[in-house]
Amino acid sequence: ARQFFVGGNFKMNGSVKQITDIVEHLNNAKIDPSTEVVIAPPALYLLLTREHLRKEIEVAAQNVFDKPNGAFTGEISVAQLKDSNITWTVLGHSERRTLLQEKDDFVASKTKAALDGGISVILCCGETLEQREAGTTVEVVTKQLGAVAKEISDWSKIVVAYEPIWAIGTGKVATTEQAQEVHAAIRGWMGKEVSKDAAEKTRIIYGGSVSEKNCKDLAKEKDIDGFLVGGASLKPAFVDIINSKQ
Ligand code: 13P
Repeated sequence: ARQFFVGGNFKMNGSVKQITDIVEHLNNAKIDPSTEVVIAPPALYLLLTREHLRKEIEVAAQNVFDKPNGAFTGEISVAQLKDSNITWTVLGHSERRTLLQEKDDFVASKTKAALDGGISVILCCGETLEQREAGTTVEVVTKQLGAVAKEISDWSKIVVAYEPIWAIGTGKVATTEQAQEVHAAIRGWMGKEVSKDAAEKTRIIYGGSVSEKNCKDLAKEKDIDGFLVGGASLKPAFVDIINSKQ
């Protein structure tokens, strides 16, 4: 069975005070020990978070660069994450793909760099509303993942996050059927293009307006192995989402 996985993506939110409070809350919370939990604060707060957060919870960067070091102003390397005891990174989030024009190939190159350097990856994919209405959802997400499959063959340190763009920050969560359908399609694609083993073992998590209210039903679907939570990860109710697997 795949271990349930819940990630909290703080995006560009929080302050020293707010993040300290969130860490404190998580440290004191009753958390299902069978769920893997990873939180991704802004880069500036990674060290602070790692220093104070309980050890069972891992910390992720929201991005990493694909070069080892050098003249890359504003970027952070895989080795620097490792050096800071940061074990995960989010990559390919739709906000970076759209606002910062990150292309599939760049996301793939960064995924390879992260894995090569021993950093696990929450790899995001997802379609726009127009693409969904045009019936191209599966084509879009498998193209995004396909760019990564060209660069790497070992998916054991990747968690795939399916995040339909129309559901992110909108309060408009995908239905359990909509999410399950795409998760199953991604798993089917992996079985064909990567390996049976990867298809069976890779966690595919859902992101987009996940809340303490809708998480339990989504968690029941057979191909939904957890969540990547944005807004709600900043709130105390994040603990209810972490504990949503029955
Ligand atoms: P929301 O949960 O705020 O919709 O954000 C989802 C997301 O983008 C997580 O990466």
